[in-house]
Amino acid sequence: MIRHWHSPEPEEIGHNILEFLQAMQGPCRISIPGRDRSRCRVLVTLLHGNETSGIKALFALLRDSLPRGWQPAVDLHCYVIGREAALLDPVFTHRQVPDKRDYNRCFRPPWDIDEQGLVCRKLLDEIAALEPEVVIDMHNTSGEGPAFAVATRLARRHEPVVSLFTDRLVVTDLQLGALMETDSPDIPVLTIECGGAFEESADRFAWEGLQRFAGQDDILSPVDSEWGLDIYHNPMRLELDKPLNLAYADAPRPGADITLKVDIEHHNFGAVQSDTFLGWLSPAAARHLAVHDREGSNHFREYYRVENGRLFPRRPQKLFMITSNPVIANSDCLWYTVADPEPT
Ligand SMILES: [Zn+2]
Repeated sequence: MIRHWHSPEPEEIGHNILEFLQAMQGPCRISIPGRDRSRCRVLVTLLHGNETSGIKALFALLRDSLPRGWQPAVDLHCYVIGREAALLDPVFTHRQVPDKRDYNRCFRPPWDIDEQGLVCRKLLDEIAALEPEVVIDMHNTSGEGPAFAVATRLARRHEPVVSLFTDRLVVTDLQLGALMETDSPDIPVLTIECGGAFEESADRFAWEGLQRFAGQDDILSPVDSEWGLDIYHNPMRLELDKPLNLAYADAPRPGADITLKVDIEHHNFGAVQSDTFLGWLSPAAARHLAVHDREGSNHFREYYRVENGRLFPRRPQKLFMITSNPVIANSDCLWYTVADPEPT
């Protein structure tokens, strides 16, 4: 179910990531021996078939670094999972296979209802057996924006690992069935969001971060006595409770239920205020927007207001993972938001 591939030679992996994936034949683990064979680290990537920065970085490691004599500090096990979605035409545009579940929503029971559940269960079993120092799950955001890390709890042991990649950490207790929710004191599991899938800066970020992650002897010792990270606590998701016709434009698009500003992604990790104009809504659309908490209560009206068919924040907040892809906005969410504390 997950093929194991040990130290592939450059001529076995093809000339590009497409040939590399074709050579895998299915979900795959690629293992590279380290200088210290007594420890290991795990990289997971391509859980989403359209998020390629992680696999590009892995490919570069195998094609360029290893033949020149570079070696990881400890054994490195790299899981490449969402190959099937990645190879659907047009390649590298499908987050998941249509009509199959999103891999990064399948890391919780029930396991045996489909192939996705079984692969995720197997991946977790293998990680438990490997006992890695840390697991990194490398993604791209669907919109443009800066890189950040995501953890399910605020723990000092995450800080040195996050610092290898970025100084932005989102801490969320949302339970979606993502790999990072399996984080434990024994095996830290972190998501790294490298920035937009088609941004060169995201590929460079993944490549540089992976070299530090794989190459440094010690990535777990505390970096400093002070928190050196910008922390974003408990984001909420702006979701649609039924599929709507979404557009991204400079003026309300005829026939669209919601037209978001064409440059909406520019708010990624920026502060929006109560007068920041976000987009246009049809009279019915506002009823289908939801900001759910863990108990399922809808806080839309605490976060947003609609004035003459125009959408504004009700309170200052920071938005991130803003997508400008209507398919992802409908199936996942429009964006994540962290509200500034209420004035006291
Ligand atoms: Zn992803």
